[in-house]
Amino acid sequence: MAIMVTGGAGYIGSHAVQRLLADGHRVVCVDNLFRGHREAMEILSRGAGARLVFVAAEVGDRDLMLRLIESHGVDTVMHFAALAYVGESVNMPLRYYRANAASMLGLLEAVEASHALPGGGVSRFVFSSTCASYGEPVRENIPIRETCPQSPINPYGWSKLHGERMLMDFADMCARAGRPFATARLRYFNVAGSDPAGLIGEHHEPETHVIPVALQAVLGQREAFTIFGTDYPTPDGTCIRDYVHVVDLVDAHVAVMNAIKPGEQRVYNLGIGSGFSVRQVIDSVQRVTGAKLNIKEGPRRPGDPSELFADPRKIREELNWQARHTDLDSIVQTAWRWFREHPRGYAE
Ligand code: UDP
Repeated sequence: MAIMVTGGAGYIGSHAVQRLLADGHRVVCVDNLFRGHREAMEILSRGAGARLVFVAAEVGDRDLMLRLIESHGVDTVMHFAALAYVGESVNMPLRYYRANAASMLGLLEAVEASHALPGGGVSRFVFSSTCASYGEPVRENIPIRETCPQSPINPYGWSKLHGERMLMDFADMCARAGRPFATARLRYFNVAGSDPAGLIGEHHEPETHVIPVALQAVLGQREAFTIFGTDYPTPDGTCIRDYVHVVDLVDAHVAVMNAIKPGEQRVYNLGIGSGFSVRQVIDSVQRVTGAKLNIKEGPRRPGDPSELFADPRKIREELNWQARHTDLDSIVQTAWRWFREHPRGYAE
């Protein structure tokens, strides 16, 4: 049996591929390389031999996905492939609905068709969702539990919420039809950090995420670091987020994948359970790197909620998973190692 990892050449997906290979799985990675990196695949394929198959293709190509599921005996899909910039989604909403919602529809159609295959096809589907689907939660709902109403305030959040809905409706139908299908919707908070061994890391073009942007400023690749909004209703006026280390996040995926049973639809928030402001992130970056940043205060970025952090109790109680990296400095340290050693990312 094999695991299909969509978006496996991207930041989170590549860390998932690394872990699944280390655990001895066979992995079929599909990525259109729009923002993913072939170099990450090349690095991960060393030592993996035939256990890693990489296909550069659109995840929404139903017929191709079905052929891959059949020919490689895929029984599990981890669906990471997506675009994930809040700001870009506000400016290019249709790009987000195409990449995140429409592609997932094609993938789910392939999964559905796979159920007619002799081995029963895909029986587990783990979906990368997002805390952006919660929108701007009312104060009583922070820290955010899985039961918090989902009401996105940007197209990125909506495109992921549509994905969740498609998966729920499809899984309901499978349950009614008695098909052995298990799903998990994992709502990520802000994923950060890199492989501690420094083999793979975070490389986005363009880079907009706060920790990499600050590290690029440390490296002199940006003249300054701009804080997007200092008038939020938070203690220091800047946005608060929950930063979860990518290796911990992947660990949660493995725990969830191993736990879900046919007929189950699970939902978990993946975060560390505490929030850090943009100013706290800057302080951490300055502490870890020893650099002094040129900090500018700019206007708010459209689509940004003021405060998002998880209540991670559910997955801790049900699966005994909790993030091991809980202080910002240790997360920033692994990111810094990658950026210091690969100032131009995979282009090095
Ligand atoms: N942010 C910032 N300056 C930057 C990049 C990000 O002030 O150059 C802020 C952003 O407004 C948000 C937080 O940092 O409040 C986290 O943003 P990021 O893009 O990393 O993740 P998001 O929460 O959008 O998924």
